[in-house]
Amino acid sequence: MIPEKLNYADILCLLKSDGSRAQQLFDSADSVRSRTKGNTVNVRAIIEFSNRCRRNCAYCGLNCGNTSLPRYAMEPEEIIETAVEGYGAGYKTVVLQSGEDPYYTVDMLCHIVKSIKEKTEMAITLSCGEMSEEDFALIRKSGCDRYLLKHETSDADLYSRLHPGYSLTDRIECLRTLKRLGFETGGGFMIGLPGQSLDTIVNDLLLIASIPCDMAGIGPFIPHPETELRSASPGDVFLTRKAVAIARLLLPDANLPATTSLAVRDKEERNKIFSGGANVIMKKITPPRYRELYEIYPANHGRIKSVAEEREEINRLLTSLGREYD
Ligand code: SAM
Repeated sequence: MIPEKLNYADILCLLKSDGSRAQQLFDSADSVRSRTKGNTVNVRAIIEFSNRCRRNCAYCGLNCGNTSLPRYAMEPEEIIETAVEGYGAGYKTVVLQSGEDPYYTVDMLCHIVKSIKEKTEMAITLSCGEMSEEDFALIRKSGCDRYLLKHETSDADLYSRLHPGYSLTDRIECLRTLKRLGFETGGGFMIGLPGQSLDTIVNDLLLIASIPCDMAGIGPFIPHPETELRSASPGDVFLTRKAVAIARLLLPDANLPATTSLAVRDKEERNKIFSGGANVIMKKITPPRYRELYEIYPANHGRIKSVAEEREEINRLLTSLGREYD
C-alpha cells in the first residue's frame, strides 16, 4: 500500500507511475475512500444558472470575449423551482453554478439560498466566482453550506496569463476566507493546461492539501473553439486519474468528484475513477433550454430526459459499478 503521508518527491514519482505502481496507487486510494467514505457515492444536482461572465479566462467557453455565445441568466424563482424539482427527484445537495455575473447581487443570492432551504432539506453549494469577504459572509449567514472555487493552477505566472487582470494570490485568499467563514470549501484544478508541468500538478495537490480543501474537483482541460487555447491538446485522462488518487491520499476525508470533464473526455475513465478515490458525481438538472448554452467546453448533451429519469439513470450506473448512492 502507498502511505498517506506524501512529500513532493513521492507525489512526482506517483504522477509519473505506470503499470503495477499506478494500479497500487489506485488500490490505495480506493481503500482510503472505502475507510473514510464507505461504499456510497454522493450524487449532487447542479444548476448552471447563468452563462454570463465578466472574466476572460483563456480556456473557458463562457469568457466575456466569446460574442458568438447566446447568453442567459435564470431568474431567482426559476432557480428555486428547479432546485425543488431536483429535491423531488431524490437529490440531497444542489450546486448553483454560474459565470461571474454581476446581475446577481448578494441579496439575490441570499434570497435564493434561503428559499431553497425553506422548501427543501438540501445542502447548498454555491460556485459563482470570487467575491469580497463581506459578501461571502452574508451568503454563509443565509444558510449556504459549501462554496466551490477551483484555484485552476498553482503556477502564479501561468495563472496570470490565463486570467488577465486576476491573481493566484487573490484566488487562494478567497479559499482561505471561505474556510475561515465555515464553508465546506471546494478547490481544484485542471490537468493538461498548456504551460503546465508535472511539477505544477505536484504544487496543485500540495495546495489543496494545505488549505485544506473539503472538496476538490480535478478534471482534464478540454479545448474550446471560441478561446485562444482552441488548438491546444486536451488533458490526459490517465494522469487525471492518478492526480485524483493522490488527492484521496493527501485528503482522506475530502469529497472528490468524478468530474464531468473527465466523462466528456472518456466515460470509461470516469467510471474507473470510482475505484481510484472518487466518491461524488454531479448531474446537471439545468432546464434543457439552457444546457447547450452553458458551454464551458464542447460536450455532447445527448437526449435530455426529465430530471427524475436522469437521476434514475445515474442510480443504475452506480449500482452497475457496485456502489450505493445517496
Ligand atoms: N465562475 C465560477 C468560478 O470561477 O469558479 C464557476 C464557473 S467556471 C465556468 C467552472 C469551472 O469550469 C472552472 O473552475 C474550470 O475549472 C472549469 N473549466 C472552464 N473551462 C474549462 C475547460 N476548457 N476545460 C475544462 N474545465 C474547464
